[in-house]
Amino acid sequence: MTESVDVRTTTSEWLAAFQAALTARNAGAAAALFADDSYWRDIVAFTWNITTVEGAVGVAGLLRATLDEVDPVGFRLTEEPAEEDGVITAWIAFETRTGRGSGLLRLVGGKAFTLLTTLDELKGHEEPSNGRRPAGVRHGAFRDRVTWAESRAREEAELGYTTQPEVLIVGGGQGGIALGARLRQLGVPALIVERNQRPGDSWRRRYKSLALHDPVWYDHLPYLPFPANWPVFSPKDKIGDWLEMYATVMELNYWTSATCTSAVREGDRWAVVVDRDGEHGGSSGVRGSSPASERVTVRPRQLVLALGASGLPSVPDFPGREKFRGDQHHSSAHPGPDQYKGKRAVVIGSNNSAHDICAALWEVGADVTMVQRSSTHVVRSDTLMDLGLGDLYSERAVAAGVTTFKADTIFASLPFRVLPALQTPVYDAIRERDADYYGRLERAGFDLDFGEDGSGLFVKYLRRGSGYYIDVGASELVASGDVKLASGQVTELTEDEVVLDDGTRLPADLVVYATGYGSMNQLAAGIIGQEMADRVGKVWGLGSGTTKDPGPWEGELRNMWKPTAQDGLWFHGGNLALSRYYSLYLALQLKARMEGIPTPVYGQAEVHHAQ
Ligand SMILES: Cc1cc2nc3c(=O)[nH]c(=O)nc-3n(C[C@H](O)[C@H](O)[C@H](O)COP(=O)(O)OP(=O)(O)OC[C@H]3O[C@@H](n4cnc5c(N)ncnc54)[C@H](O)[C@@H]3O)c2cc1C
Repeated sequence: MTESVDVRTTTSEWLAAFQAALTARNAGAAAALFADDSYWRDIVAFTWNITTVEGAVGVAGLLRATLDEVDPVGFRLTEEPAEEDGVITAWIAFETRTGRGSGLLRLVGGKAFTLLTTLDELKGHEEPSNGRRPAGVRHGAFRDRVTWAESRAREEAELGYTTQPEVLIVGGGQGGIALGARLRQLGVPALIVERNQRPGDSWRRRYKSLALHDPVWYDHLPYLPFPANWPVFSPKDKIGDWLEMYATVMELNYWTSATCTSAVREGDRWAVVVDRDGEHGGSSGVRGSSPASERVTVRPRQLVLALGASGLPSVPDFPGREKFRGDQHHSSAHPGPDQYKGKRAVVIGSNNSAHDICAALWEVGADVTMVQRSSTHVVRSDTLMDLGLGDLYSERAVAAGVTTFKADTIFASLPFRVLPALQTPVYDAIRERDADYYGRLERAGFDLDFGEDGSGLFVKYLRRGSGYYIDVGASELVASGDVKLASGQVTELTEDEVVLDDGTRLPADLVVYATGYGSMNQLAAGIIGQEMADRVGKVWGLGSGTTKDPGPWEGELRNMWKPTAQDGLWFHGGNLALSRYYSLYLALQLKARMEGIPTPVYGQAEVHHAQ
């Protein structure tokens, strides 16, 4: 037998044994096919949850609770499995009673090391694409003809007034928009409310010099990938325009200048109060405070908070702030560098925003000092693209047949428990390749880290969503001293200085607080109330027991894209890649509930932290 036949046989035999055990409702036999050290991550297919179980005991528990309802059949290979370093990787598909799913299986020594299962579509509710695409017009001659534009206008005028959406999404950034597009394709009436004036404004309003730090291959939105000539790193306003165009062509019901002020659960619906400003088609709301505004109560069954992780500027209350005579603002309110040529700027913080803002200020000829208060993970963009993302998200990956969905699935198939161990060698290689660069930064006094266990950027992002800079040029300025570096804690501001705990006095005309953002929970509390926000608990983070991510271990991101402790309340967001991928699974959960498909949740996470 050739090696590839061996690999195929081993995998097929495993799948056949797994299917036989499932069909026999023999959870123990199925669990025995998993290695002692093994992980099954299920995204909505078996559990109506996003959850990872570990080892044979975890697998057996999941199956005992779900098998009868799920009735899984047809586990099979969808392409030739591959073997590398003793690990067989196999793309698989299967069906459940309610849907069709796929996944990725890794076998080591004939036993499962990792299994990912995802629900991809609901039977009878497939998206209207390709062969199922809508006709767009009714051929023939009809006296009652309603054009597409007329029917869209009517839908927009009625939704939220005389008809109620199934789903209300608060927040129309990329998260709300991607989810809205998914729900539209699934036929779920959804309304997005956004306090900004235009879709894309959450990007447009950020500091002038911002361009995405992630490359284009990582950033696609669902259904409509960026064109082949789209720049690798999209400038923020260009992303804003893309999102605005996307919201239009994906036919999203999107209220602009609409601020959600509260949401209260009433029976099986929500009463969501939205202050809606300006000209629009609505008619039956109660007039709000400003003459051009009205207050509308929308009554969706499901409420999704897509408020972003960067919604609540966190500004430390340093003594003396009120005395400072120069300009001072949070990074999110930084207007850009133009008016600060020749001025003395002190930027407090040393993560992405701090670096970007320092570099832009230096470019216009400001005298710039960065204040580093804690260690920061820095990785050169070029190196990250090559060693960190290149196999999955790059032109090289595209040429090798790694579609965006495949790349997303491969990433999703790596259990969070083992991700740090898998990422550490990547960051060891990065450290080695850029040893000179890191040496220069350290000699300049920069306090570097690679995450508490050396696992680098993405794991840090999942744990705490902060603490890093993807270097697109500012680090050279820090290493060379062109951007001055000061280290320590700020003790006070005077009329014209920032004072540090070692007595250093930094003269300043401008102070920028690049000090990050408050938690998503705090934002949510402003809408659903503190009591409900506390009950639902902390959003984001894995429970790794590292800084800003307290234990116990959760196994999945807290409260993201999955059922929360509050019926009918969901959280959505993440970077463009996570938002693209998980929006499908959140949309399917919402669709199933709308259709009355039973959705028994297995492994609902306990709430350990209110904030
Ligand atoms: C400086 C910076 C650089 C970043 N760079 C990248 C990058 O390169 N790649 C990447 O993938 N990610 C990046 N991110 C992270 C993240 O992807 C973005 O923050 C992204 O905008 C998140 O999308 P979102 O839809 O979850 O949140 P947001 O874009 O923040 O959208 C949330 C929306 O909710 C609205 N909202 C909030 N409260 C209410 C309310 N009560 N009523 C109505 N509307 C409300 C807000 O106005 C906002 O438009 C960056 C973030 C920052 C701050």
